[in-house]
Amino acid sequence: AVTGGELGPEQEGLVIAHYGTQVAVESAPGVSQRCHVRANIEGLVTGDRVVWCEGDPTGVVVAQLGRQSVLCRPDSHGKLKAVAANIDQILVVIAPYPEPHANLVDRYLVAAEVVGIEPVIVVNKSDLLDRDPALREQLEQLMAIYPELGYQVLYTSTKQGGLETLHATLRERISVFVGQSGVGKSSLVNVLLPAAELRVGALSANTRKGTHTTTTAQLFHLDCGGSLIDSPGIREFGLWHMDRLEVEQGFREFRPHLGHCKFRDCHHEQEPGCAIMAALESGEISQTRLDSYRHIVASLD
Ligand code: GDP
Ligand code: ZN
Repeated sequence: AVTGGELGPEQEGLVIAHYGTQVAVESAPGVSQRCHVRANIEGLVTGDRVVWCEGDPTGVVVAQLGRQSVLCRPDSHGKLKAVAANIDQILVVIAPYPEPHANLVDRYLVAAEVVGIEPVIVVNKSDLLDRDPALREQLEQLMAIYPELGYQVLYTSTKQGGLETLHATLRERISVFVGQSGVGKSSLVNVLLPAAELRVGALSANTRKGTHTTTTAQLFHLDCGGSLIDSPGIREFGLWHMDRLEVEQGFREFRPHLGHCKFRDCHHEQEPGCAIMAALESGEISQTRLDSYRHIVASLD
């Protein structure tokens, strides 16, 4: 064991939590230590891969490794700030109640496209659909378009089981849950988490104890083999600022047509020679998605 002042050999690790200037780093699932971060390393976030050395009482992070993806949110000055790294997929949670509007689902999908992380649509509270065929019909109709666009849609219930597909989707990946308030994100995290919480409890003594509790993102290993990064801020992902060009790029079926409009700054409203309108006519773009695009653009500040 590493004792007083000594540092262990360099090893790779994963940042699983953040406490002010310190981070918790894991060398293997369930084995972690609180670490200082060398002054030349800036802006480490949960999900970052690092090189670190064990120490007593705290370890030290000596290098930051590259990121496959990074979730950024604008700060109060509009400057982008990383909140989590190496996320593989964004689970966009919706439910029959609160009622999901097409353009809200699309707003989340667009935001995921903008950061280049695969979104998956999770329709929670599916138990309510089992009791109400008309509601099921309505929701399935709203969802019908998404598999055609290449998005996975899965149904979950935290009340009556049926989480097998969700488990399979979470496996081997780092995921985040996003979605409007009331759709069941906390409930989903809670049903997925109990065993993970036990493992958190088993972490080395100086990892998560003390007065430095965190409100930033934390990474949790799930029983089903995947990991979850969660924080109140991350759950609000998708409602952050975007600009119109990001929005049009975020509609994935628009991409082959962008740049082919007659006017370079075409907003795809009423302009002549609009390639997006032509794609609507030919059925390559659906009216719902175009309406959604326009609705989102109109809502931008
Ligand atoms: P959040 O705001 O997205 O975190 O949503 P919550 O997890 O707090 O859930 C909001 C409400 O929906 C709570 O009253 C939950 O009990 C309820 N809820 C969550 N999941 C389900 C579900 O699968 N079925 C039903 N019927 N209700 C659920
Ligand atoms: Zn156009």
